[in-house]
Amino acid sequence: MTLKQSDPEIYDLIQLEKKRQADVLELIPSENYVSDDVLKAIGTPLINKYSEGYPGKRYYGGNQVIDEIENLAISRVREVFDLPLDWHVNVQPYSGSPANIEVYMGLLEPGNTVMAMDLSHGGHLTHGSKVNATGKTYNFVHYGVSPKTEKLDYTEILKIADRIKPKLIVSGFTAYPREIDFKKFKEIADKVGAISMADISHIAGLIAGGVHPSPIPFFDVVTTTAHKTLRGPRGGAIIMCKDKYSTAIDKAVFPGMQGGPHENVIAALAVSLKEAKSANFKKYAEQIVKNTKALATHLQDFGFRLISGGSDNHLILMDLTNKNISGKDAEKALENAGIVVNKNMIPFDKRSPFDPSGIRLGTPAITSRGMKEKEMGKIASWITAVITDVKVAPDVAEEIKRFTKNFPAPGL
Ligand SMILES: *Cc1c(COP(=O)(O)O)cnc(C)c1O
Repeated sequence: MTLKQSDPEIYDLIQLEKKRQADVLELIPSENYVSDDVLKAIGTPLINKYSEGYPGKRYYGGNQVIDEIENLAISRVREVFDLPLDWHVNVQPYSGSPANIEVYMGLLEPGNTVMAMDLSHGGHLTHGSKVNATGKTYNFVHYGVSPKTEKLDYTEILKIADRIKPKLIVSGFTAYPREIDFKKFKEIADKVGAISMADISHIAGLIAGGVHPSPIPFFDVVTTTAHKTLRGPRGGAIIMCKDKYSTAIDKAVFPGMQGGPHENVIAALAVSLKEAKSANFKKYAEQIVKNTKALATHLQDFGFRLISGGSDNHLILMDLTNKNISGKDAEKALENAGIVVNKNMIPFDKRSPFDPSGIRLGTPAITSRGMKEKEMGKIASWITAVITDVKVAPDVAEEIKRFTKNFPAPGL
């Protein structure tokens, strides 16, 4: 019996979501479309297996094949991120958030001082937000972007680090449209004797594709999700670290935070890493940057103010203050038009996180569908039309439904 016959309720809902994903312009910069092969690996009986522990040292029998899968995933991480021999890999974290918590757990004591980007300037919840376990457990002190340039101000970051002497400094962002100077971060960490940690969740695919500098090998620890620009499965993550931190971090992952790893996701991660080594992936990464630049230029031509004046990577942060519409209302209006973005705080935002002044958009998912610079002009004019007059949304939605049919999304 097929799922359609045995559980039509769930089957139909899956079909509806597939149709939604096919019909819209997906501009959320942390989302993407995984390949058919990644989907295939996730839906396998690997999900049945318990494999607590690490390859060769499991707490359950029957793990010969699982060990080979996990080791293959690890060796592909090494290749994709060009890891030196004295680096270690853990592919067991259940997601990006647990991966970060596990690094802190392995390398810090509760109450230790940690430095990271402010959430409202583009940090992540697990970078010490007050409502997150990390903010409740450690003494996070936050840096932000410069009020003038809206870019990272490394002199200011050094000043704060020098004053508070953090045990660890996190460099990693969810809404920062510019290239990160990891060398400068490392110098700051060295000057104050802090461990350097890069959370590259958003830009891992750009690093793998060679269009953004890598924090490896000079950082101490690097964490990443697989499901953003890297185009792997969600429900998994990677921790890479210098050997001297590996025992503490492995112990924090298992048994510190987690039980059995999700080997079906680890297999899917391995599949996506093989894809990330291909020439096509490099082209995709290059095209993401070209598309974002093109989209940014068109939006500016239409009178939108972009935070920091543009983008070097896969995302754009737009300030809607001069357009007399809030981030929340813009998100809603664009969604009605089949353009999916998310409302987002902008640096020094005067509004609340529930109804901020900005929206965040990115090009990874539409680049995976094969859209190029030419399509970015069209997308910018649709965005402009909807934000200028929300009543055009239903008409735009129809146009976009037709338009997206020319760009079939992987996996749907
Ligand atoms: C997405 C993201 C995470 C967390 O990932 P989840 O898989 O949603 O837990 C952590 N850090 C950064 C910088 C991210 O962008």
